[in-house]
Amino acid sequence: MDVLISGASMAGLSAAWWFAHHGHRVTVVERSEGLRPGGAPIDVRGRALATAQRMGILAQIEAEKVRLLEPSPVLDGTGAQVATLDLRWFANETDEDIEITRDRLNRILRDAVSPEVEFRFQASIASLADSAQGVDIGFADGRQARYDLVVGADGLHSSVRRLAFGPEADYVRHFGHYVALVDLPAGQDWHRAMLNVPGLTVAVRDAGDGPQAMVLAASPVIEYDYRDPAAQRRLLDQFLARVDAWQVPAIRAAFADPAAQGFYFDSVSQTHMPQWIKGHVALIGDAAHCAALLSGMGTTLAMVSAETLATAWTAHGGDMQATAAAHDASLRPYVQQCQAFASQGAPIMVPATQQALDERNAMFRATAARFAP
Ligand SMILES: Cc1cc2nc3c(=O)[nH]c(=O)nc-3n(C[C@H](O)[C@H](O)[C@H](O)COP(=O)(O)OP(=O)(O)OC[C@H]3O[C@@H](n4cnc5c(N)ncnc54)[C@H](O)[C@@H]3O)c2cc1C
Repeated sequence: MDVLISGASMAGLSAAWWFAHHGHRVTVVERSEGLRPGGAPIDVRGRALATAQRMGILAQIEAEKVRLLEPSPVLDGTGAQVATLDLRWFANETDEDIEITRDRLNRILRDAVSPEVEFRFQASIASLADSAQGVDIGFADGRQARYDLVVGADGLHSSVRRLAFGPEADYVRHFGHYVALVDLPAGQDWHRAMLNVPGLTVAVRDAGDGPQAMVLAASPVIEYDYRDPAAQRRLLDQFLARVDAWQVPAIRAAFADPAAQGFYFDSVSQTHMPQWIKGHVALIGDAAHCAALLSGMGTTLAMVSAETLATAWTAHGGDMQATAAAHDASLRPYVQQCQAFASQGAPIMVPATQQALDERNAMFRATAARFAP
């Protein structure tokens, strides 16, 4: 059968692998000119480890995982060290969790996908008409084609979701923060550390592929064009204007540079949907059930949802009702569990008040003492 996947990131690449594995003809359209690079290290954990094992890529993910880093200083708003963050506490601490850079996992997934899968970059779906015969797609370049199944793997701001299920505002819930990342320019002496003031985290990290800055900022929803990098940079500049210590001015300059590599900015949000399948259209990954960056479960859910959808659809011979029932039964309790993790992440990653920050730092000091030789 013919399957069209929109989006070539963690969910879309995993789905391409699974649908091709089950013998379907697969086309992937991706809006960007190639696989989108960038991102902080991400976690492959829980049920995704078994999914990766079945895809034959677990050993490679393990081989390319982030090696443990030296403990990182935790700074207050003046740049003075107040605690130490021992990353063993977060990363690769147990067999249930592999941390790997997003770019490496992207490449591993892309290399694993069958050469028979057709990738079309700088391509997207413009219109979608579902009927008993399948889904008639109009592409942005004017082409038209019919598919037995269309899979929206196009992220938090999914356009497949908008076209088939309705507006983003009906499904996406702001989780109270914005996140930004950028690769820091070579030739400057960057110090790995994490600076916190209430509601703002600025960190420099190097997971083996060069220094990278991350910002997490507490904020109510801001109306802006989420596809406009200049608007994103202006917002970020306002967040960073609160701190004038440590390397923050240089980090601010790096984020302001339109030529900087690895720039990423988005709201920290969750997607909640009562159903992920409608007619011959299915959503997976962040488009369907984003768990929010603070959960550490986004990539895991992307990989697992791709497998459960492809397996259910194939087992039920393309019957959408039976597919929806099986996919939902397998995935929904896990999604709920993963989405709940996000509430635990915020008080650790970006404490909201000075008291919460002091308590978090005391916990970091106690943990560092536990790991001390
Ligand atoms: C550049 C980048 C950096 C990221 N960095 C981090 C990070 O540091 N930490 C973290 O936890 N998560 C990060 N994420 C999100 C993380 O990848 C997802 O939460 C998770 O892996 C689920 O993946 P997904 O495939 O569902 O969505 P995404 O990874 O968001 O991928 C969606 C894909 O769909 C494409 N797309 C969007 N709209 C269209 C369209 N209309 N037509 C065709 N294609 C479209 C996008 O270009 C993208 O390739 C990042 C995502 C991106 C794109």
